[in-house]
Amino acid sequence: MNDLLAEFFNTRSRNIFLFAKGRVGLYVVLKALGLKEGDEVIMPGYTCMVVPSAAGFLRCTCRYADISPQTYNINAAELDRHAGPATRALIVQHTYGIPADMDAAAGWSQKHGIPLIEDCCHAFGSRYAGRLCGTFGCASFFSGQWNKPFYTGLGGMLLVNDSSLLEGVRSLYEKATDVSPLENMRLNAQIMAYKTIVTPRTNTAVTTLYRFLSKTGIAAGSSTNEELAGTMPAGYLKRMAPCQIREGQKNLRDIRRAIDARKKNAARYSRLLADAGWPTLQEPAACESVILRYPVRVADKNHVLRQAALKRLEIGSWFEVPLHPAGTDMAGLGYSAGMCPEAEKASREVINLPTHAKITPDEANRIIGFLKQHALPA
Ligand SMILES: *Cc1c(COP(=O)(O)O)cnc(C)c1O
Repeated sequence: MNDLLAEFFNTRSRNIFLFAKGRVGLYVVLKALGLKEGDEVIMPGYTCMVVPSAAGFLRCTCRYADISPQTYNINAAELDRHAGPATRALIVQHTYGIPADMDAAAGWSQKHGIPLIEDCCHAFGSRYAGRLCGTFGCASFFSGQWNKPFYTGLGGMLLVNDSSLLEGVRSLYEKATDVSPLENMRLNAQIMAYKTIVTPRTNTAVTTLYRFLSKTGIAAGSSTNEELAGTMPAGYLKRMAPCQIREGQKNLRDIRRAIDARKKNAARYSRLLADAGWPTLQEPAACESVILRYPVRVADKNHVLRQAALKRLEIGSWFEVPLHPAGTDMAGLGYSAGMCPEAEKASREVINLPTHAKITPDEANRIIGFLKQHALPA
């Protein structure tokens, strides 16, 4: 799998590290950068809670910068306000697959000598000014979770661009544990189950069941209860399982087709929404986005999500709160209400539409038809 990723990013396979989750890649790079108690990390206040929690496991303080309402990405004009003598890293996320303003972010990072890390969990194949997202920062991390650009059945990848970090990252990778043969079997069973039962029509119901099964410990979930409560779980620093690598390889061999499907579906949504008089996603200039989930702002998000579940439509809720998911102890992660007004507004308004290859033109029509009937633009 390293070879396929290296080929995609035009780098060497020794710059790629496979872990049990994307967040583990982030934790590893922060640790390799030498971050420690009291150091500060700037990140968008519109992300998954596992991002600040990875920094929290190193006892770092997170500074949340607000997003720009058009791109859902960190607003570079906010960076100076959050920087100080203890700032040691900047995390920039390419939300929904939309590239962040890399001229501004990389420029700021260089000017201040603050390492830039890219959260590419939504962005695989997106380009900013012709250059692939993931190749700007000192390192970038990717997720292989079910709903990410391609799945490994949970799993994550770290791409190291700054060779001075390689030795530190490699030594942490070597310290990481392997999954047991039994755990590998369980993960493999989940991959098989996922492929058999998940379709756009079953997605929401299966996701609800899966969350329940992982909460009770029956299935291997995305986050353990400990982790949601802010404690580093035992076995966090873990490498990717063999069955996950196999699945990732299979999906990577088909990545061009998957990217093409996402581009076509995003263009179709834009066309259908425009025909219906709804606002459409405005791609920033000089970007070529591979949209993972197509964001739409609606007036009554909870109502729309409930109706969509009843109609068996795969409409998503990312992000439910600035540090997703709803129910996260945001105060424990240093977020207090009002810190990022645009992110809070987006959390109240944005639903997202699937772009993956299982979404046929008919299904896309059905989704937009549903919005026209059951939703109003925010
Ligand atoms: C999914 C996600 C992550 C975490 O990925 P894991 O593989 O679950 O650790 C991080 N950041 C963003 C923006 C994500 O969507």
